Formats: sequence, C-alpha cells, structure tokens
Amino acid sequence: MLAIEAHGLRKVYNGTVAVDSLDVSVEPGTIVGFLGPNGAGKTSAIRVLCTVLRADGGTFSVAGVPHTRPTEIRRRVGVLPESAGYPGGQTGEEWLAYHGQLFGLSGREAMATGRRLLGEVGLGERGRSRISEMSRGMRQRLGIARALVNDPEVVFLDEPTLGLDPAGQRQVLGLVSRISRERGSTVVLSTHLLTEVEQVCDRVLILDRGRLVSDGTVAEVVRDAVTRPAHGMLRVPPEEQERALEVLQGGGIDAAVAEDGQLSEAFLALTDRDRGAP
Ligand code: ADP
Repeated sequence: MLAIEAHGLRKVYNGTVAVDSLDVSVEPGTIVGFLGPNGAGKTSAIRVLCTVLRADGGTFSVAGVPHTRPTEIRRRVGVLPESAGYPGGQTGEEWLAYHGQLFGLSGREAMATGRRLLGEVGLGERGRSRISEMSRGMRQRLGIARALVNDPEVVFLDEPTLGLDPAGQRQVLGLVSRISRERGSTVVLSTHLLTEVEQVCDRVLILDRGRLVSDGTVAEVVRDAVTRPAHGMLRVPPEEQERALEVLQGGGIDAAVAEDGQLSEAFLALTDRDRGAP
C-alpha cells in the first residue's frame, strides 16, 4: 500500500490553475520534499491531499483511504499548515490536550499525550509556558507536536522552517528525520530551500506552476536535469564543484557529466525551462 497516491490531481482558483495533472506516489515511511518556487502549487497540493480543499479533478488516496472518504483521511494524517495560528494565552500542554480530545482522547489521555509529545519535540520543560512567550522556533515545534497528536500515518509539514534562524531550522529538520525514523510515519515536507531537501529527504518532487517537473531521489533529479536533451550545459561555480561531483557520483553519473550537476543548477534547469534561462 502506498502512503500517498494521486492521479491527475487538479486545483483551480477562479481560473488560476494551482495544481495541474499531478501524479504522485509515495512509499510509506519515506520523507518526500515538495520543492518549488513561490506559487508552484505546494500548499494547494498539500491542502487537497489533506482534504482541507476539494480537488477540481483527479483521484487520490492517503494512507490507503480513497479521497471519497475525507473524514477518515483526516483521522489518519497530521498537518502543520503554512501559517498556523496559535492561541497565545494557552500553555502548550493545554493546547495539545485540547487537540487530543478533539481526536477522541479522554482528558487524562489527552494530557498524557500532550506531555509525551512536548518531550518528543524538545519542549518538555516549556509545556506550562504560555504560547505567546515561546519563540517562533518553539511554536513551530509545538505545531509539529499538534500534528502528531492522533499518531498519524502521514504527516504534512508546509514550510515548517519558514522564518526560523539556523538553529531553529536545524531543530525542526532533526525532528522531521526523527518522525520518520522513530515513528515510521511518512513525511511530506514542503520547502523552497534546496538544502533542506538535500539534508533530510529520501525523495524530491519538483513542482513548477502546478506541474510536476521532476520526481526521484536528489541524485536522480540531478541526473534527469543533466541528461534531458532539451537542456544545455549546467554551470557550477568552482567552489561548488566538489559537492556537485559528490551528488552526481552518488547517483552513478560518470565524471564527464558530473562536472555539470548540482541540485541548485538542476532546480533552475527544471523550473526555468520556459522562462528563457540558458
Ligand atoms: P506554493 O505553496 O508553492 O507557494 P500555492 O499553492 O500557494 O503555491 O499557490 C499556487 C497558485 O495558486 C499561485 O498562483 C497562487 O497565487 C494561487 N492561489 C493560492 N491560493 C489561492 C487562493 N486562495 N485564491 C486564489 N489563488 C490562489
């Protein structure tokens, strides 16, 4: 059973096509990056897959549940929305316990789950602080704890590191890896940062203007960009060449091609194709 399977997914807002003919298949337990520039359709695709928004076309299933049963999908997924709102006056514990109860836990179970999750996201000491007193990074980790309250099979994190400093970003990415490794959950991480995909994702889907332009491991995506006949040369600054070689050789690409490949260059080649990039 696939964790996510979508065929011909489409989302249109008043004539703006946000997601167009998207086909996705995600193996359980993997971390998948939805990578793309602003407006690529990442948030729309996530909202449709979580059943927050209705698709305008296509079919999909999440955790083996078909899109025709949205309530059941919502029970099986966890979501950190792009701009999550937090009730500043509540403590982390209170907020998590409230969400646990929404998923049917008793007051006592919900409180115990909340405390356990606070520990899991590194906020064990801060559970009784008001959310308004937490840093942005802490709030993001609290939001991730909330996304885990129903022990989801698939976790969607929409730009979880947006606006965080490097330390906060590292903590969130570390947490993403742990959610996959220790819980065995499938994680969808949406980001516009190539480095995040390189650091934590098993696979990357590059979206551009609602369409899937590449799909595979980082090395496969790089190879895809390098070997597509429509693409000319990919230039890599001298200081990046060693890293580029590493990425390409990891993907089994020979040295003659390797000099031209790096994820950032591949990303540009794949997303700027119709914009007249070299
Ligand atoms: P991303 O998450 O990759 O930045 P989005 O899914 O937010 O992409 O946006 C995809 C496209 O859909 C963009 O052109 C955006 O302007 C448009 N869009 C997103 N949300 C809405 C909305 N609620 N109403 C109208 N257009 C929207």
